[in-house]
Amino acid sequence: VTDWQGKHVTVAGLGVSGIPAAKVLHGLGAVVTVVNDGDDERSRTQAAELEALGITVRLGTASTSGSAAGDTLPPGTELIVTTPGWKPDKPLFAAAAEAGVEVWGDVELAWRLRGPDAAPWLAVTGTNGKTTTVRMLASILQAAGLRTAAVGNIGVSLLDAVLGEEQYDVLAVELSSYQLHWSPSVRAHSATVLNLAPDHLDWHGSMEAYAKDKGRIYEGNRVACVYNAADKATEDLVREADVEEGCRAIGFTLGSPRPSELGVVDGILVDRAFVEDRQQSAQELAEVADVNPPAPHNVANALAAAALARAFGVEPAAVRDGLRNFRPDAHRIEHVADVAGVSYVDDSKATNPHAAQASLAAYESIVWIAGGLAKGASFDELVAASAKRLRGAVLIGKERHLVREALARHAPQVPVADLGRTDTGAMSAAVEEAARLAAPGDTVLLAPACASMDMFVNYNKRGEAFADAVHALAAERGDAT
Ligand code: ADP
Repeated sequence: VTDWQGKHVTVAGLGVSGIPAAKVLHGLGAVVTVVNDGDDERSRTQAAELEALGITVRLGTASTSGSAAGDTLPPGTELIVTTPGWKPDKPLFAAAAEAGVEVWGDVELAWRLRGPDAAPWLAVTGTNGKTTTVRMLASILQAAGLRTAAVGNIGVSLLDAVLGEEQYDVLAVELSSYQLHWSPSVRAHSATVLNLAPDHLDWHGSMEAYAKDKGRIYEGNRVACVYNAADKATEDLVREADVEEGCRAIGFTLGSPRPSELGVVDGILVDRAFVEDRQQSAQELAEVADVNPPAPHNVANALAAAALARAFGVEPAAVRDGLRNFRPDAHRIEHVADVAGVSYVDDSKATNPHAAQASLAAYESIVWIAGGLAKGASFDELVAASAKRLRGAVLIGKERHLVREALARHAPQVPVADLGRTDTGAMSAAVEEAARLAAPGDTVLLAPACASMDMFVNYNKRGEAFADAVHALAAERGDAT
């Protein structure tokens, strides 16, 4: 679409992606109608802001208007731009399909408006490790002297990045499976699917549909499709993708790399895929100790970031410097305090079983705090793999029974305290209970394996509640370090 003047566009959903999309489209001369399911205080404030610009907003919920505002297609709609979170099975999309109306996400909109011209995209998706990898990648690109930013699902709108004043040489782009679902024509320079495990299945409908949406990130790649050699499903997605001629499949592994892979040899991150000097068979990039923290899953993230940077032509020294400069975000395996010889670690961002399994694998004797919203996931594999390392488990949250049942099946010897609570105060009770179960040398690990929204606004708030409870415990015991 080049001529937006007078085009009728329906923007589905307010919020962080809907509002910028509505404003941009309105600015281009489109006739914009925003439909939003909620009509709470916040929605009304946001709606008022858009209405002041001359944008039509329809608010409503099933309870107030009989049908949600976002369920019916406004007459005359020629295009829908949706918030990525809206489920594909909503009646609005069925109506759109029937009327032959295309549906784009905000990422697709950014791509269509200026994507290819603004800067090449190095794109990252995967069930876990996206944000960490994208930040590592941006740090490496910066160390190489490139003008770049970490954007996308990380909280920086692609529309803002692509249409803003700032000039970029390359963008480090985090894409969620939802965003990929609604991004049919996005084409990255190079991309990676870090790993693939069941998550968000209630949204996608099935594991196959989820994998297919993730695999979209490889479509049309120009230089490299980077996959996880230890996760065959990611390699299969590369094989199924339709890429540009000359685009290479590059693997990463925690073991010794084969040709066309990056891997680890004697504590050194080694590149056997992008070797400039033909006399050499491998290029040393950095030490495992340069990765922060050097836990196995995080070394995998570093290798994936390095592979994308190398595909873009970044020198080995910049990979090392970028990794050394990188600091992890809060609530991702964050050490909070030691109290009475017990270490307290916040991995509130472990919002699914696959993530929790990675952090449980990093410790020996653990009192595990878990529970929340399961999003249709199973806990059997996680509990079976971690059973030996559990000294105890403390359960909170709405669907904690699913974790409790998996523990009963695969770790019957582990003492379980089911607090039976979903109120916000439950976190401090959980920390106190964990302190009772823990012995000196143990780690109390918040790795809920579940989403937080049953008890908290988001995982940040859950992590903060944990940290507050740990600090209160330390103050009470008076022996924090
Ligand atoms: P995302 O953006 O995909 O949610 P993050 O980088 O924020 O990923 O990490 C989320 C959590 O996932 C971390 O706190 C950690 O528990 C886990 N994690 C990170 N990297 C990996 C990985 N490569 N494999 C498995 N789990 C991981």
